[in-house]
Formats: sequence, structure tokens, C-alpha cells
Amino acid sequence: MEPGADSPVATEEPIRCAECETTLSEGQPRQETDGGTFCQPCFDRLTGEVQQAIAAQGEGINYPMALVGGLAGAALGVAVWWGFTVLTNIAFGLVAIVIGFATGKGVMILSGHKRHVNLQVLAIAISIAGFAYASYLVNRSFILEALAADGQAVALPLIPPPDLFYNVISAGFRAMDLVFLAIVIYEAWKIPAPIRVPTQ
Ligand SMILES: [Zn+2]
Repeated sequence: MEPGADSPVATEEPIRCAECETTLSEGQPRQETDGGTFCQPCFDRLTGEVQQAIAAQGEGINYPMALVGGLAGAALGVAVWWGFTVLTNIAFGLVAIVIGFATGKGVMILSGHKRHVNLQVLAIAISIAGFAYASYLVNRSFILEALAADGQAVALPLIPPPDLFYNVISAGFRAMDLVFLAIVIYEAWKIPAPIRVPTQ
């Protein structure tokens, strides 16, 4: 506190720019925002920086790395869901949303922290494939277990041919799976979504 600042509170506090802390004299151009009051030069500079960042979010996207990140995220999500199912013996589909989350994060981070509709599409495609494969793994575990209890042995490969893949998935399909898939897609769509400038 400056000396003499303990004078009556009613005196007007000088308004300072929230960025450079220059005292704004009356009549001096200023911009009032939710983030505080700014002098005009600071406001213009900050606005320019934000616009630059918004424009840069979709530039120089590293697509090969985005693909790698998406696949790694999906693999992680699949492992989590499958692991959860095998450990708990419960096919709790809600855990599957980890796939959408991890895929979206993987795509965004390895693309160079970019956001673009192409990344959204990529994340959705990978997460749907991951969800389908995880469903296969989960159903496969239950089928193998049931057959083993019956004393039967059957080969269900980890990389199945398409018709077997389809049969195993549809054998365990329930309507709720569509809801979980929708959440997976939503997560994958939301995470790399471009930030838009609020129009004034
Ligand atoms: Zn300023």
C-alpha cells in the first residue's frame, strides 16, 4: 500500500490496464472484457495473438503422427476395457468410452497439439475400429470361457478373419452398445475440435 492510501475508500480507484498496468486516464481508449479492462494497444495486441493462435491450430498438422497417436490411444483404451472386463468378469460397456477419450487425445497431442475437422474425422474412424475390436476381444473372452466350462476347446484368433469377427461381435451385441459407441464417437469428435472465436 502506498502512503496515504488508507484515505476513505470512497475515492475512485484508478483503473489500470490488466496487461501492462498503465493507469487509464479518463477518456483514454480502453476495452472492457470479461477478463478485465485493457488499454487499446494491449487489447489490439492480445486480440491479434488470439487470432493467430486460432488460425495456427489447423496449420502444419502432422497427420502421420496423428494417426500414430490415435492408434496408440485406441490400443490403450481397448486394453483398459478388455482388462477391466477380464478382471471383473463384467462387460461394463461404459468403460469403453476410454477408447474415444484416449483416441481423441492421442490424435490431438501427436498432431502437434492441433485442432481440425480432419483430426476429428480421423479420431472417430480410429475409435470406431477400436470399439469394434474391443467388442470382439471382450466377447471372445466370454465365449472361450463358456466353451471351456463345457469342456470344449475352440480357436478364436486374436486377429480374426472378417466373417468370424462379425459373428463374434454380433453374438454379444446389445442395444446399449450403440449408446456407448455414440459416447465414444462424441469424445473422439469433441477433443480435437477447433476452438472458434466468439463473435462479438
Ligand atoms: Zn495495456
